[in-house]
Amino acid sequence: MINNQNHDTIKFSEAFQQLKDKNIYLWGARNAGLGIKKVLVRNNLKFVGYIDSSPLVNEDIYHERCYTPDVFFNSQYEKHKSFIIITTRSFGPEITQICKNAGLIEGEDFYNLSTIQKFEYLIQPTNYCNLSCISCSFGITKSLRKPCNMSVKTFGQLLKKILAEDPFVGTIDLFGLGEPLLNPDIDKFIRICNENNIGCGISTNLAISGDITKTILAEPTWIRISVSGWGDNYEITHQGGKWTTLYSNLLKLKELKDKHQLSTTIEIFFLLYKNRIQDYYKFRILCEKLNFVCRPIHANILSLEMVDNILRGKEVPNEIKTAQQMIVNSVEKTHELALESKSFPCEYYSIMRISSDLSVAFCNCYSEGIVAENFMKISASEIESIRRKSIKCKKCMERGYHRYYQTVFDEPLIDHNE
Ligand code: SF4
Ligand code: SF4
Repeated sequence: MINNQNHDTIKFSEAFQQLKDKNIYLWGARNAGLGIKKVLVRNNLKFVGYIDSSPLVNEDIYHERCYTPDVFFNSQYEKHKSFIIITTRSFGPEITQICKNAGLIEGEDFYNLSTIQKFEYLIQPTNYCNLSCISCSFGITKSLRKPCNMSVKTFGQLLKKILAEDPFVGTIDLFGLGEPLLNPDIDKFIRICNENNIGCGISTNLAISGDITKTILAEPTWIRISVSGWGDNYEITHQGGKWTTLYSNLLKLKELKDKHQLSTTIEIFFLLYKNRIQDYYKFRILCEKLNFVCRPIHANILSLEMVDNILRGKEVPNEIKTAQQMIVNSVEKTHELALESKSFPCEYYSIMRISSDLSVAFCNCYSEGIVAENFMKISASEIESIRRKSIKCKKCMERGYHRYYQTVFDEPLIDHNE
């Protein structure tokens, strides 16, 4: 039987009551922020603008105002009238501190998203991937798994359960491990999200040979395309991907977006390996031409089990050994940096990565291991509680692993090291 934890539901209604007459600002103008804006709009709450300090965010984003923290506090903030929702989980503790330093009171003047939206959901339309990226333990071990696609009916039921349990959900990620565009019904998944006024994001390698038209015309909220090099370099690190296929799909994406005036935000996610900075600049120029966002991040080894193997001197696949030679910050260095924030709480307890067979990953940072066999038969709160009490999480935090990918996500590192 599903335990829905009534106290969470009361918290939601209290939150609605509190937000009712406020001018609401969303701190974090990325995809989570866009999703929460949808929640506010569908509940007739007053969204005013975004706050974001990232140099990657323009003054206006998604056709809405976006203020830097300085401008916001100097010209926009009005005590008792303004209310901030911090939409980024990764930088939640830092932003909370900034708000407190400005004299704001948590719960009265601002919330962290986790106060009202308990969980994040990644739904994998398929567990199969067409590529074997050299840093991805999931991709290079794909032959060990039986391919499985989620059906449209199952997806609809899943979404219904999520919304019943967690009414503040603004965005669903239609990806996890595997290439979502390989599910032939992915366009229907997107349309179901749109019909329910839920934002949806797709992270894809876009190096697929099939026609992408119907997926793009379904109009997901955002699409992220992961790349790691230009031309031949791309094919080395995105192993199995064809540069010409990727490039022509990028142009096709632009053509479809313009022709049909789609609102979808398109983002290139550039995974930066050593000696690839020139490739990144080429992508920046391409993105300017195509009007896509270009976001760099350091490439690193994907999955904590592989990171753990490396740190303990255990054997790893050859692809991972190659990736180790090519990443800017070694696994050891990244771990060293992660240990500096070891005392921070884990941000991954609340992330539900639901596979195409409905099993739930024990943790989004690991490619193997499940916490529940069927998400339809257990509540997200119960899953979180199992994780919190587990020995696996205890050991992970003792080793500072829970901060490993937070360290990788730290954008400024790119400028320091390249
Ligand atoms: S990183 Fe993504 S695209 Fe690459 S192999 Fe892994 S799942 Fe596939
Ligand atoms: S403590 Fe480690 S294993 Fe547990 S949820 Fe966090 S990152 Fe995952």
